[in-house]
Amino acid sequence: MMIRSHLGDCRWTETPVLGYKQDGTTSFRDITKQILFEGAQMHFQWRYFEVAPGGYSSLERHEHEHAVMVVRGAGRVLLQDAVYDIGHYDLILVPPMTWHQFQPTGDEPLGFLCIVNAERDRPQLPTAADLELLRQHPAVAAFIKV
Ligand code: MN
Repeated sequence: MMIRSHLGDCRWTETPVLGYKQDGTTSFRDITKQILFEGAQMHFQWRYFEVAPGGYSSLERHEHEHAVMVVRGAGRVLLQDAVYDIGHYDLILVPPMTWHQFQPTGDEPLGFLCIVNAERDRPQLPTAADLELLRQHPAVAAFIKV
């Protein structure tokens, strides 16, 4: 099987652009998800996320890991108690039980590929106590959106 991309943007034919986290339990803004690969013999899913300017992914943690490559735009990522600038082709590993959130910077969407386990635990959202701990780091306090 071969799936053709639309040249010049990160969209693929016959690959629906999904709303992100449709269970409505998490806080996020202006982000889409496309599942590029999944299958019965694959123990992973390969997804593409795109966060529009002003948007953000949910602030969460979980036991499963994320393997991420930025392919569009630029942004910043929270990894536990630090915030990193990220751009084209940077690789981000989100280890187990690590608070994380992605946000674009500038006028362009932040697009990234993300591989996860097909079977995985549900994300945990921060409690008030978790947020208080996170906000003890000034750079984190200035960054996170919930
Ligand atoms: Mn996650």
